[in-house]
Amino acid sequence: MPAHDVLIIGAGLAGQRAALAAAREGASVAIMSKVHPVRSHSVAAAGGINAAISVDDDWHSHAYDTVKGSDFLGDQDAIEIMCSEAPGEVMHLEHMGVTFHRNEKGELDLRAFGGASMKRTAYVADITGQALLHVLYEQLMKHHETVERYEEWFTTSLLQNERGECCGVIARDVRSGRMEAFTAKNVILACGGAGQVYKPTTNGLIVTGDGIAMAYRVGAPLMDMEMVQYHPTCLVETGILITEGARGEGAHLLNSEGERFMEKMAPNKMELASRDVVSRAEQIEIDEGRGVGPGGTGIYLDVTVVPRKRTLEALREIVNLGKDFAGVDITREPITIRPGQHYIMGGVKTDVDGRTPIEGLYAAGEVACVSVHGGNRLGANSLLDTLIFGRRSGEHAAARAASMAMPEIDANTPLRRDAEAIDAIIARPRDGRRVSEIKNELGELMNRYAAVFRDEQGLQTARETIARLKEESQNAWIDDQGTVFNQDVLGAIELRYMVDCAEATVVGAIERKESRGAQFRTDFPERNDEQWLKHIDITLDGDEPQVSYSPVTITQWQPEERKY
Ligand SMILES: Cc1cc2nc3c(=O)[nH]c(=O)nc-3n(C[C@H](O)[C@H](O)[C@H](O)COP(=O)(O)OP(=O)(O)OC[C@H]3O[C@@H](n4cnc5c(N)ncnc54)[C@H](O)[C@@H]3O)c2cc1C
Repeated sequence: MPAHDVLIIGAGLAGQRAALAAAREGASVAIMSKVHPVRSHSVAAAGGINAAISVDDDWHSHAYDTVKGSDFLGDQDAIEIMCSEAPGEVMHLEHMGVTFHRNEKGELDLRAFGGASMKRTAYVADITGQALLHVLYEQLMKHHETVERYEEWFTTSLLQNERGECCGVIARDVRSGRMEAFTAKNVILACGGAGQVYKPTTNGLIVTGDGIAMAYRVGAPLMDMEMVQYHPTCLVETGILITEGARGEGAHLLNSEGERFMEKMAPNKMELASRDVVSRAEQIEIDEGRGVGPGGTGIYLDVTVVPRKRTLEALREIVNLGKDFAGVDITREPITIRPGQHYIMGGVKTDVDGRTPIEGLYAAGEVACVSVHGGNRLGANSLLDTLIFGRRSGEHAAARAASMAMPEIDANTPLRRDAEAIDAIIARPRDGRRVSEIKNELGELMNRYAAVFRDEQGLQTARETIARLKEESQNAWIDDQGTVFNQDVLGAIELRYMVDCAEATVVGAIERKESRGAQFRTDFPERNDEQWLKHIDITLDGDEPQVSYSPVTITQWQPEERKY
């Protein structure tokens, strides 16, 4: 059985950064990913990464903007760490070879992003995630003697010893269908978010909440799961993202009357208010009949006000997306967009070193909730979160590994259990529903009832429907009966992960009887600090989610009314 000091599940930015950090500390490291690492969803990140690197800037200002953006639900100790370590991390990336955009003076150029009090987003055109991911992957290959890569391996469950400590995983080799148990002194989950729980979403097909559900199933609490970010600028039909970098470069949002309606909601920041505020403003315009496009369900994003040369240089990817997916040349005419599911602020509850309450189990990146984003993430703070807390998890796990022996565990029983479960999925009779049908129903349900605006009745409908979908997902059938690259069978497993995530989101949203950040309850339209300035934690008890609370850490910024 393969054994490693630190085993990382996920090879996006959080996972790769954790692997490099743990390897530098001298640990034997392995990194596992269900797709080739550079196909991880971090590759899609467009607009950039925040850091207070300008001479006029200060990490305290970045931290305050982040706290305010979070609607005061973010933990300020974690936010201070993230923002104070950001400049060093960005410079480290630059030194490793990331070709950040530079200004005429030869300094790193910075662009404006939502909710930020000044320009602090470093970027590589609008392909920042791709640039970062490829540079980290080169570094991983350079460390091939100390970092083992299990590429195209799908983790099915976490291993625990009799004391409940995490000591490895069970996984399936996607290429051959072979099952294997892996022992590890520490496991770091870096499996990304759960965007596919929604339809449409800006997230790729692989973003199915696997890490969140696996941690939840072994007793780790999930935190802030009700906080789901809708990005203001997604293509109406497909949900494909048009980066916030467009508004950062000066693009306007217009309703059917040609008004820049953000004047009403955020007169100071206009289109660059925080995402929750802009998405709500758009949805109000659409709901009140001032939308554009088919059925009035969209809003115009007008990039033509940005000099064409600048758009072609700094936003070239969305020029292509506009042409390919909407038939629009954004340098010459407005494009129709609307709010779309984009990111989950919640995830596996961790401390600032990535530790979960399960000994030996860490989490970092979008799978985790530290919580630096609280009720609403600021654009360009996620790449930063992945790197800072990925690194810190890797370092902490490596140090822990140095002080302990390799766990001894008999993995035969869980190995057989997971193998048999997969065989049973493949053998299911075709009398239930297809995986894809259930997935579509789930996504549309969440997009209807757990979206920009929510209320008790809709959330209860969602909860009841999820209970049914949970049952149906246990019998969902697939077509592919083979062993080689059987993505169908993995889809059936992912569906169960997604249902767990959806349930936790809806339970949290029902519980939080106030409006804060991305959670806007039309039946409780005010923020209520007295009762709800606290995190909602959800733990699995048997098959039922249990709710508890934990305090928000406040260091220097007392809650105040949020205005942009
Ligand atoms: C279109 C788009 C644009 C964005 N732009 C920006 C931006 O400009 N700035 C910003 O800060 N943020 C941006 N974000 C958000 C940001 O990109 C993500 O939050 C971040 O990249 C997530 O990184 P991660 O390492 O946590 O996870 P991912 O990059 O999603 O990686 C997850 C990894 O886990 C692996 N995995 C998952 N499940 C399993 C399993 N069962 N077994 C084995 N492996 C598994 C996957 O294969 C993958 O390697 C954007 C997001 C999107 C969707």
